[in-house]
Amino acid sequence: MKRVLIVGGAGYIGSHTNKLLSGNGIKTVVFDNLSTGHRRLARWGEFFKGDLARPADLARCFKKYKISAVMHFSAFAFVGESFADPAKYYCNNVGNTLNLLNAMRAAGVAKFIFSSSCAVYGEPACLPMKENLPFNPVNPYGRTKKMVEDILADYSAAYGLKYAALRYYNAAGADPDGETGELHNPETHLIPLVLAAAAGRLKDIKVFGSDYKTPDGTCLRDYIHVTDLASAHLLALRYLEKGGSSGGFNLGNGKGYSVLQVIKTAEKVTGGKVKIVKAPRRAGDPAALVASSFLIKKKMGWKPRYAGLEEIVRTAWEWHKKN
Ligand code: UDP
Repeated sequence: MKRVLIVGGAGYIGSHTNKLLSGNGIKTVVFDNLSTGHRRLARWGEFFKGDLARPADLARCFKKYKISAVMHFSAFAFVGESFADPAKYYCNNVGNTLNLLNAMRAAGVAKFIFSSSCAVYGEPACLPMKENLPFNPVNPYGRTKKMVEDILADYSAAYGLKYAALRYYNAAGADPDGETGELHNPETHLIPLVLAAAAGRLKDIKVFGSDYKTPDGTCLRDYIHVTDLASAHLLALRYLEKGGSSGGFNLGNGKGYSVLQVIKTAEKVTGGKVKIVKAPRRAGDPAALVASSFLIKKKMGWKPRYAGLEEIVRTAWEWHKKN
């Protein structure tokens, strides 16, 4: 019986995907070193504790299980930290991904679904963003994702790797059943921080930049529910199984919300008040990132279920209250 290997399945997006695959009758095995993931979130399928930095761990895992396809969620994803400690980002996000791809080659596994990011594009020339925009990342995190996409294209041409690079916009929200959710430590993402402020556990929210060329001066982002990201992985798996061609696919809702709109929405959902403090721009933050997801809709039939910001924030709030 073959399994899908979910690398980083004890983390935020990986655990939601594991739940969805398992619910659809697909056998899974999570590979995770638990450095930032949580064992209790890897609650579906098998669990293999291993480290991508150790090729021997990968070899043991591929020997122990028959793997049909690999999904790779195991990367660092904080833009600020990627400036402060680029070595951490290049070693894990690029170097360890190569270890994984080489272990797949050795085991004869050819299907790969990669967590890429809209950060590969940098500051886009036009909105909404399509896949044919040039790659021009403006921070080390985005550069690691671009490098891996370049590697995937070369591996595909030379070794027959079949891949889908899913370029996430801003992942948010939590499993509507409350079985998994976002647990980062430290947390740097806007929605969980705003919820913590609304709950009185943070005294204020710093708004990074109020002088962007956007309607209210704060950055616009395209927030996408984590369960809708998970469903894209299931569709990408079926797409590759049916012989779909390799490439990159944007994943967002096609609507940009400003930082202030997110704060307002969180106040509405929680009934709490959030104190705002104006702060300088954060390095490596484009003014506006909004996806066109036309391609994944057309090629894979993807359709978001939780597209509204309010329902995204509400599911995050339900998780936040319990955790
Ligand atoms: N942001 C903010 N204050 C915070 C955290 C984030 O103003 O405490 C802004 C950030 O500058 C960006 C947006 O919120 O414009 C989303 O940032 P987040 O870190 O959640 O995700 P990213 O876009 O970096 O993936």
